[in-house]
This record gives sequence, C-alpha cells and structure tokens, in this order.
Amino acid sequence: MSAHSPLSNLAVPVRSDGKKIRAGVLGATGMVGQRLVHLLADHPWFELTEVAASERSSGKTYAEAVHWHLETPVPAAACDLVVKGLDPSLDCDFVFAALDSSVAGPAEEDFARAGYPVVSNSRNHRMDPDVPLLIPEVNAAHLDAIPLQQKNRGYDTGFIVTNPNCSTAGLVLVLKPLADAFGLEKIFVVTLQAISGAGYPGVAAMDIQGNVVPFISGEEEKMEAEPQKLLGKWDGSRFVDAGLGLSAHCNRVPVVDGHLECVSIGLKKIASLGEVREALRTFEVDSEMASLPTAVRNPIVVLEEENRPQPRRDLHAGNGMAAVVGRVRECPLLDVKLTLLSHNLVRGAAGAALLNAELLAARGFLTRRVAPSDSQLAEPVSR
Ligand code: NAP
Repeated sequence: MSAHSPLSNLAVPVRSDGKKIRAGVLGATGMVGQRLVHLLADHPWFELTEVAASERSSGKTYAEAVHWHLETPVPAAACDLVVKGLDPSLDCDFVFAALDSSVAGPAEEDFARAGYPVVSNSRNHRMDPDVPLLIPEVNAAHLDAIPLQQKNRGYDTGFIVTNPNCSTAGLVLVLKPLADAFGLEKIFVVTLQAISGAGYPGVAAMDIQGNVVPFISGEEEKMEAEPQKLLGKWDGSRFVDAGLGLSAHCNRVPVVDGHLECVSIGLKKIASLGEVREALRTFEVDSEMASLPTAVRNPIVVLEEENRPQPRRDLHAGNGMAAVVGRVRECPLLDVKLTLLSHNLVRGAAGAALLNAELLAARGFLTRRVAPSDSQLAEPVSR
C-alpha cells in the first residue's frame, strides 16, 4: 500500500476554491518536523506552504536549514520554502507543531489565538483539561472538547489538539481493544526506546553506544498519566480518567528508530490467550477512520514467531502506523503479557499528527484562513 492509498471511498475535504488545505509545520527542521515534511509531500488533502523553526534556521531555505535524516531526498516542494520564525502570521490554514517543548507551550497558544488550528506533538498542552489528547482509533469522541476550549480561551477559529508521547501511542493503541473486550485493571510496562525519540542531536554517542540508559526525563510520568486520559471519556464538560493502575519503567537503548515495550496486563474479565490474540488481531477501524489517507484498517499486527517483534524487522508495518505485537503469553503476576513495537517518529509523532489532522479535516474542523486584510470571512472546507 502506498503511504496515502485510501482504504475506502473518500469524501475528500477540499476548500471551496477546490484547492488542498494549506499546512504549515512549526519545528520543521527537527526529527519530527522533517518526517511531517516528508509525509506531506504527496498528501491528497494537504499542501505544505510554510515551514518555521528557531532563529538558527529562519531566513534560510528549508534545504539549507535542515539536517535531513530520511533516506529519501528533501521533497522538491519544500526545498525552496524560506524558513520563518514563530510569528503567527503564516500563509496556511492550520499548523502542525513539532517544537522543542521549551518553546512549544506559548507558541502553540499564540497560533491558536491568531486563528490557526494547531496539531501538536509536544507535551506542553497534552494534559490541559480542555485540550483533546487524541489517537483517532481510540478516542475520536474527545474532539467534542474543542468548542469548550475555544470558549474557555477566547479562541475564534483556532484550537489545540495534541498527540501522545511516542511510547504511549503504541501502548494505548494495543490496550484499546483489550479495554473494550475485557476491561483493564493494571498495566506494568518496561520500554526500550530508540535514540531518535530524543530529537536531534539527542543522546551523545559516548553515552548510548554499546549501552543502556535506564532514565528518560519525564517519560515515566507521561506514560503513567496520558493513557488515563486517552482511555477515559469526555463527559461533555471534562475528561474523566480511565482509573487504571499503571507503572512504567523507561530505558533508552542503542536503536535508531522504534520503541519496544514489554507489557503485563491485568484484565477485569477472565480471558484466554486465544481470546486476547483474537481481540488484538481483529481490531479494525470504523468506516470514518478507514477513509483517512494515513489510516490502516487493522492498526495492530500480531506475530506468532517467538523472537518478534524486532525494531529492524518490523518497524515499517502499516507504513509505520501499525503497532506490532508478539509473545502474547500468560503472566504469573497479572493476567497476560506481551511485547509490542511502534515507530516512534511515525505512529508516535508525525504520522500520529497527520492522522489527527485528517480526522479534523474530515469532521470540518479545518477552515480556510484568510488574511486579516482580506474582506472575505473564513469559510469551512466542504466534503
Ligand atoms: P528536535 O529534533 O530537537 O527538533 C526541535 C525543533 O524545534 C527544531 O525544528 C528546532 O528548530 C525547533 N526549535 C528549537 N528551539 C526553538 C526556538 N527557540 N524557537 C523556534 N523553534 C525552535 O525535536 P523532535 O524530536 O523533532 O521533537 C519535537 C517535539 O515533538 C518535541 O516537543 C518532542 O518532545 C515531541 N515528540 C518527539 C518524538 C520523537 O520520537 N522524536 C515523539 C513524540 C513527540 P532549529 O532546527 O532551528 O533549532
């Protein structure tokens, strides 16, 4: 399947002028930002029109500013874009934000206040009580919080939607069908996280080469908090946590891309290993989700081989959007244990943000932004 082959007949969101929805990327030069630039290159709904980053990069062309890490070349359409700063006056209809967390908080608010929908990768607003923390296959109903966020904060057409931390993304995707089928009580997870999860230049080679670092600042706290919101409910006025018992150990390992997680799970209902495998294997997205270009119909792949999943072999399952599960077996402490792998920069970051933006577009949340000098009013895209 190509990166953007639709899974069902699409009602394509287009602007009233028939053009694609214009996207900007804040933090476009970083590890996540350049993945977004890559994924936007031939996107059927979105067109990259703006890139922004720090003062180190602004004023240069994107090709000059970026330290490109992907195997494919910098997309031609991005090469000559001039990198801008974080002034919320970009020529686009919405922005992806992949900014260092030291600047993401206020920058995302500035853009939302100026009328831009902000689709964020950063931790800063994930746990805000009026900001959806979204995995479309898990909690699409949380988008219902957007009108209240706009009212609370005095935003007009702007708002903030976030995707989870990279290791939370794979974990919660795998927990979702188990929560639906059997209910969840307790989760114990140990991660082996790739170095690209630390951004660029990330962990020094001297620290990680031939080594394991049993600490990632703030990661265990994020992994213990974010699943509660993701697997919880929006009750019309607030997010209600899932109330899970959750303990995480996070480790940095010398792998370039792909987070592996060893998980033990306590279920509310008794289930056989066969039933657990079946619930994971048959997890299928609904028709709305299947119509999104970046979605995969079965986002969990279950392997039977006793030594899988492995980052080098299984990273690209579902174009990097699937979570790969193996070693489903009995757990002497809780009920069941398994190993899962997900691509931290795709399912855990850029692909996740793209899928979030696609769901927002499909639901009519992305409007055509017009310059303040323009006399027209902003108009919604039509499907
Ligand atoms: P990164 O490689 O360090 O990139 C950071 C980006 O932020 C660069 O574009 C950088 O621009 C820009 N930036 C830094 N300081 C800035 C400033 N003062 N003003 C404007 N722009 C500034 O980090 P990353 O891994 O792409 O992560 C980006 C965000 O996504 C972070 O919040 C991270 O926590 C989150 N995230 C990362 C992953 C992952 O697997 N890497 C997964 C999920 C979420 P310059 O190039 O000009 O310095």
